[in-house]
Amino acid sequence: MDKNAEKVWSNCLKIIKDIVEWQHYKTWFEPITPVSLKANVLVIQVPSQFFFEYLEEHYVNLLAKTLKRELGKEARLEYRIMVDSGNSRSKPVTMDVSGQGFKSFSNNEMDFPLVINNPVKNPFVIPGLKKMQIDPQLNPIYTFDSFIEGDCNRVARRAGKTVAEKPGANSFNPLVIYGSTGLGKTHLAQAIGNEVKRIHPNKVVLYVSSEKFINQFMDHSRNNAINDFIHFYQLIDVLILDDVQFFAKAEKSQDAFFAIFNHLHQSQKQLVLTSDKSPKDLEGVQERLLSRFRWGLSADLQVPDYETRIEILEKKMKNDGLEMPKEVVKYIAYNINNNVRELEGALISLLAQSSLNRKEIDLDLAKKVLRNFVKSSSKEITIDTIQKMVCEYFDVPYEKLLQKTRKREIVQARQITMYLAKAFTKNSLKTIGDHFGGRDHTTVIHSCQTVKDLMDTDGIFRENVLELQQKVQLAAM
Ligand code: ADP
Ligand code: MG
Repeated sequence: MDKNAEKVWSNCLKIIKDIVEWQHYKTWFEPITPVSLKANVLVIQVPSQFFFEYLEEHYVNLLAKTLKRELGKEARLEYRIMVDSGNSRSKPVTMDVSGQGFKSFSNNEMDFPLVINNPVKNPFVIPGLKKMQIDPQLNPIYTFDSFIEGDCNRVARRAGKTVAEKPGANSFNPLVIYGSTGLGKTHLAQAIGNEVKRIHPNKVVLYVSSEKFINQFMDHSRNNAINDFIHFYQLIDVLILDDVQFFAKAEKSQDAFFAIFNHLHQSQKQLVLTSDKSPKDLEGVQERLLSRFRWGLSADLQVPDYETRIEILEKKMKNDGLEMPKEVVKYIAYNINNNVRELEGALISLLAQSSLNRKEIDLDLAKKVLRNFVKSSSKEITIDTIQKMVCEYFDVPYEKLLQKTRKREIVQARQITMYLAKAFTKNSLKTIGDHFGGRDHTTVIHSCQTVKDLMDTDGIFRENVLELQQKVQLAAM
């Protein structure tokens, strides 16, 4: 335990003891343990979420006053909440939350001139219609049920559930989910949205990537419609903004988001943000935004351990109705160990190979496939990217790829693109076909088979495909 924290906390308790009734003191203050003191931030550990909320609701002023006496007026209190006290098998789980009652903002920061000085009629509100009809932009496959829990994500997943059950009315606002690529940020953020819609069908939920937000903002600012833009966002009950690291350097968009954030937060609307870095490492994002990100809970996603990786694979197989020997599942989980997207990619490659070669999935095939795979696809590669790469490589115009041209070079370029799209993306055969001017899945299967056959019989063709494959693999790293 931190000596300084202990000292500061015991000084606070001396005062609190005098003020609070004995029974209440025993109930609400004795179970607290001071954890650490850094600069002006004292962290105390509390036994439960309920406990934390009770303190925040009933004793926040008292806590603020006593702590400010000790540490000055910049003093802040953070809580470490015991989520799960653990047992012989699992470690205790805690999460860190800032005290809401301690936030203090200077007035000028709150005044976003676009909104405050210039109140405009909201174009999206139709009189007599209470709630807006907006498509939440959620993908129904991303649910809590399909998001396997492990030590790597327990805090984030549970906080996400709490947020979905009581959006806005909880202490995790904003909820910031961070972690490197392919660890499930988008999945979890979308699961929150889907769960909110399931439990509270009338809530207005919107999922938007930060890139899209920025583009929308720029469109609106070109058309002098920034106020409409901001007002639209201010009507949302649960706003999920994915990949906020894209905000770096987009100053004007940050200003707009700042106004939206303040409005939603003050109206007890829920914000869920994701980022590939912890808020403290987000460069190029304004401090006033970062400090708001810290108001709620920042929870990280780590790389899943071996058991969790097996569970993820098994869940995925179950959902897709697939079967394969346990030893193969173990082999994949053992060898692909830093990214869930890669894990799924390996599974898909294996399936693709097995169906192309009409071979059962066994350990030998898994070894072969994973040999090519291990270094690849930590990034998401899209069909469009592959199309561009192939067009460039063969010097074929993109439109030709989509047309019904029968010219041999074009046909082959198209077939190779489909083959690579199947091997390197998670898209279904149908989606791949759609990207080629609406061809059906049998065409895609046929193309993949043709490429395989030609690779066996035509040396130059084979060289071309292998070179392209390498390029795609590199792009995916
Ligand atoms: P990120 O947004 O962090 O880059 P995604 O949310 O896109 O990652 O996740 C990559 C893939 O891994 C998705 O297909 C997602 O469904 C899957 N995934 C990640 N974590 C889990 C998990 N805990 N359980 C099941 N699937 C997961
Ligand atoms: Mg993502």
